[in-house]
Amino acid sequence: MADFLAKNIVKEYQTPTGCLRILDGVSAELSRGQNMAVVGPSGSGKSTFLHIAGTLDSPTGGDLSVQGIDPAGFSNQELARFRNDHIGFVFQEHYLLPQLSALENVMVPVVATGRVSPEIRDRAQSLLEKVGLTDRMHHRPAALSGGERQRVAVARALVMQPILLLADEPTGSLDQKNAELIGGLLLELQKTGDAILICVTHSQRLARNFDNQVVVENGKFVVRASP
Ligand code: ADP
Repeated sequence: MADFLAKNIVKEYQTPTGCLRILDGVSAELSRGQNMAVVGPSGSGKSTFLHIAGTLDSPTGGDLSVQGIDPAGFSNQELARFRNDHIGFVFQEHYLLPQLSALENVMVPVVATGRVSPEIRDRAQSLLEKVGLTDRMHHRPAALSGGERQRVAVARALVMQPILLLADEPTGSLDQKNAELIGGLLLELQKTGDAILICVTHSQRLARNFDNQVVVENGKFVVRASP
C-alpha cells in the first residue's frame, strides 16, 4: 500500500444558499521519496485538500491513510499525537513562538512528546545548520529576517522525521530569492529524509521543480505533465 493514500476525497460545506462541494472526489497516492505540487486558482480547494491530508479537517467523504493508518475514527487527542508523529507542516506564516529561540522553536514538537534527548537536540541543531542558520540558533524570531524565520519553520517541520511534509504556500510571503531558497530546501530535505512532500502553491516557478503536479479544477485533480 502507498505510504500516503487519499481516495475519492469529497468536501462539502452547507451554506445558507445550499451545499457547496469544494472537492469532488480527489485521489492521490504517494510513496516515500515522492513529491507533488498542488496548483490552481485561489478558492479552488487547494488548502482544503492539504488540511484534509494533514488531518486538520475531516472530509465529507472518501478515505485517507498515512503509513497504512486511517485516522478517521481518532479522538482529537489521538489526532494531535498522530500529526506530531507522522506529519510536518509549513504554512505561509511561520507561526514561530516569539519568546523562544530558533533552536527552542525547532524543539517544540519534540517537547510536546516529552521525548527530549541529546540526540534529538543534535538533530534540531543539525537541521538548523542544513537550512543555513548555524549562526542564528539562539536568535529569537524578532531578530531574524522573514526568510530566516521560514527556514526555522522548515527545520521545525522536519525535527520529528515525519513521513509526510505538507506545505501551504510556503514561499507566499517571501521575495523571489528567499522563495527559491525555501523551495529548494523543502525538496532537498524531503529527498534526504525519504519523506513525502505535498506542496500547495500559486508559484509556477516552485511547482515546476516537483516530480508530480496536479491542478485543482472544478473540485477534481487534473494531472499536469512536469517539464
Ligand atoms: P485555495 O486554497 O485553493 O485558495 P481553499 O481551499 O482555501 O482554496 O477554499 C476553497 C473554497 O472553500 C473557497 O471558495 C472557500 O470560500 C470555501 N470555504 C472554505 N471554508 C469554508 C466554510 N467553512 N464554509 C463555506 N465555504 C468554505
